[in-house]
Amino acid sequence: MTDDTIHTCSYECERPGCIRAQRDELVAKVEALSTDLRAMRAELERAMEARQLISDDLATAEARADKLAEALRESHGEVLRLRAAMFRVCATAANGGDPTMYIEQMRDEMNKPWSGDKASAALEQGDV
Ligand SMILES: [Zn+2]
Repeated sequence: MTDDTIHTCSYECERPGCIRAQRDELVAKVEALSTDLRAMRAELERAMEARQLISDDLATAEARADKLAEALRESHGEVLRLRAAMFRVCATAANGGDPTMYIEQMRDEMNKPWSGDKASAALEQGDV
């Protein structure tokens, strides 16, 4: 075996050819590890960007859900007020009374901005 023969022995071997081969092998391993590390860093960066996008989407979805829930609560209140007004009209008329005042109340409720319309418009525009 000459000094330059590719080594097959241990790192304790002191032949110059083995030492060079071992050095070159270690350099190649370090380079391969550096390449892997760069790839992993790039992968990590992409994962963090993806996580940020998901987090942003989640925040947007939560904000939309909050707005829709609020619109639903408002809308429910409007429906209840309108139903109560309609009930008073019917009950008064059924008892032979004059429902004019209650019809006015009903009309007032109907003339108010309807939160269901606001929610629908916002949904169509993608605001919520
Ligand atoms: Zn050797």
